[in-house]
Amino acid sequence: MKFYSTNKKAPEASLKDAVLNGLAPDGGLYMPQNIPLLPTEFWEGIHDMPFHDIAFTIAQGLVSDSIEDDVLREIIRKALNFEAPLVPISDNISTIELFHGPTLAFKDFGARFMAQLLKHYVHEGDEPLNILVATSGDTGSAIASAFFQVPGIKVKILYPKGKVSEIQEKQLTTVGENVEALEIQGTFDDCQKLVKKAFADTELRKTVHMTSANSINIARLLPQTFYYAFAYAQLEQGSGDVVVAAPSGNFGNLVGGLIAKRMGLPITQFVGATNVNDVVPEYLETGKFRPRPSIMTISNSMDVGNPSNFARILDLYGDDVEKMRTDIHGLSFNDDETRQAITNVYNDTGYIMDPHGAVGYLALRAHLEKQGKAGTRGIFLETAHPAKFLDVVKPLINGEVPVPASLQEALNKEKQSTLLPKDYEALRAHLKLRRE
Ligand SMILES: *Cc1c(COP(=O)(O)O)cnc(C)c1O
Repeated sequence: MKFYSTNKKAPEASLKDAVLNGLAPDGGLYMPQNIPLLPTEFWEGIHDMPFHDIAFTIAQGLVSDSIEDDVLREIIRKALNFEAPLVPISDNISTIELFHGPTLAFKDFGARFMAQLLKHYVHEGDEPLNILVATSGDTGSAIASAFFQVPGIKVKILYPKGKVSEIQEKQLTTVGENVEALEIQGTFDDCQKLVKKAFADTELRKTVHMTSANSINIARLLPQTFYYAFAYAQLEQGSGDVVVAAPSGNFGNLVGGLIAKRMGLPITQFVGATNVNDVVPEYLETGKFRPRPSIMTISNSMDVGNPSNFARILDLYGDDVEKMRTDIHGLSFNDDETRQAITNVYNDTGYIMDPHGAVGYLALRAHLEKQGKAGTRGIFLETAHPAKFLDVVKPLINGEVPVPASLQEALNKEKQSTLLPKDYEALRAHLKLRRE
């Protein structure tokens, strides 16, 4: 399988080059040259298949001859060493919990798969590969944990000083060894600008070997197709129409679902759920794409004003908004509605949603009600554990949120970070100094 750039001006790349480049040289995002339709027998038999077999079959379809089967199986076995249970919330609504990985957010799927894939490509004694990533929270912790002690790889996480939650900061500054946290005196947008500048710095790239671990990287996208199939597999056979809502920011998560559908996964429709950063729902409604600065919300990992994976959605639908509308419905909700949903669902069912999952829940419920088709099953993705957002969730449920042991462990450790101004020369000098 080769990978092409959504800008169509760069040469096709092998899986290895696509992963190591991150962004294509023409600034586009990589996509698999061909998305194969898997046989109906596979989808019909999926309800009895182990997760790792489902993931392997889908991955094999997308990377085919790029990687040997036994290596691919091993990557999946090591990367996905946690559960993704489907939990019923009401008669027709369930959630698939994607937060059972080590950093308690769905980003563990992408980060851990990418780490295992790079482990296969980069060897001890090679020139070290630097993974540069800008984070507003969850990405940084997932990358830090996934790449910890991977030989030949150095991780540099840029995060905005004072602008990530205490828990998120602890998760990304307490890993150590080959993982360095760079605390930038600026905003998340400044961090992202610095990373972009470093990747565009051809002079620097001659001496410092580096790639990006943001959600543009194809290695993060591939495993995000798997859990849509895991969710479907846990429904009873013959469940009728199935709608899935994905709480979205950069829309990498949703693109995973769209690709799975192209491969034959019987999901009737997707709901792209956002907070007030509603650039994509607005596009679906008006046909106009208006990126703009992001607005801060309580579902902060979805505070994105210019969704990076939108280029992939456009590419999948050949820039045709009408076609897109048949598969994707967009809905947005504000913080008050999100808070109310967390309280209501807890009071009615005892289930504790995190603010991101709650946006997905709201969008799913609204979509099912509007559609009014009896018998449709709805699934929303629960993208983070509620304990990651204690300060928001706790007051809303008037009770305790259980804190998983891994989180408590990070909270007890000492923060270690390097403070840098939001000045590109300072980052550049630091990267040159620390490249070995
Ligand atoms: C990153 C993130 C999202 C948004 O995912 P995208 O792929 O950027 O759309 C949603 N919820 C949580 C908890 C996240 O960390």
